[in-house]
Amino acid sequence: LPTTAARTRFAPSPTGYLHIGSLRTALYNYLLAKATGGQFLLRIEDTDRTRIVSDAESRLYEDLKWTGLSWDEGPDVGGQYGPYRQSERLELYTKHANQLMDEGRAYRCFCTPEDLDEMKALNMQDGSAPLYNGTCSHIPPDQSRRRAESGEPHCVRFKCEDHAPFVNDLVYGVYKKPGKEDDFIIIKRDGYPTYHFANVVDDHLMEITHVVRGAEWLVSTPRHVAMYEGFGWKSPEFAHVGLLVDKKKQKLSKRHGDIDIASWRDQGILPAALLNYVMLLGWSHGRGEKGHSEVMDLDEMINKFHLKFTKGDITVNAKDE
Ligand code: GLU
Repeated sequence: LPTTAARTRFAPSPTGYLHIGSLRTALYNYLLAKATGGQFLLRIEDTDRTRIVSDAESRLYEDLKWTGLSWDEGPDVGGQYGPYRQSERLELYTKHANQLMDEGRAYRCFCTPEDLDEMKALNMQDGSAPLYNGTCSHIPPDQSRRRAESGEPHCVRFKCEDHAPFVNDLVYGVYKKPGKEDDFIIIKRDGYPTYHFANVVDDHLMEITHVVRGAEWLVSTPRHVAMYEGFGWKSPEFAHVGLLVDKKKQKLSKRHGDIDIASWRDQGILPAALLNYVMLLGWSHGRGEKGHSEVMDLDEMINKFHLKFTKGDITVNAKDE
């Protein structure tokens, strides 16, 4: 475990209900913060407006309350800590994107969806990866500003050219994405930041020291590291934890039945039982260790916690098998 207090966060997108995979990440982040005398934050990543499920957020609070995983800070909402909600922090992302543009590390892209489709098709034809070809990076800044001010739709892209970033992950070791990295989008045409950009800006501003999240995000992390470098910020430590899969190595999903926390709750399962179950998926409190109780409570989990996870997918006995 780190010797200084860790600041961690659980950052769900309200695109579905809390399920055992995400509860597991929330729990690990919570335990890491508590075991080091640090803080655990909740951040709602709601910038993909097209995928929001209307009651996902309210259900999340009920589910988290039931599990006892409470967060340690946030905006004041009626005398209580609310969550940080990215849709309420849009100026911050705009400000940081402008900073990158002023420094020549990002640029406005006016290519239309049709232009991009054409570009992709051309790239695929000559066998190269369907990357953005950088056309708009050559638009002089004054002209780019004028076009934006006249209301021409655009997104903002991060200039990735100088970066060949890699991640030194606490679980997976050194990871470098094969191939070239794209000039990826940081602000979308609707003015909202992409997940990648908002995630990095917030983790920096919230002084997050450790990012513990599902292994599906490992491939995105070199981009995140490129942005930390672009801003001149220190990256947090990353620990990607294996995904929960069924026996056929398919990611657990709704078709496996009871993966939503609410359905366990409704069946009368005790929160401690569920937390112990998810805690021990791909993590162990030490081989041959004696003296731990059958079901650990949160305090016992905090005492036992260490940052050693199984690499790779974790098979769970799913209902329909
Ligand atoms: N919003 C992302 C998710 O729901 C968060 C990933 C992360 O923790 O960075 O999976």
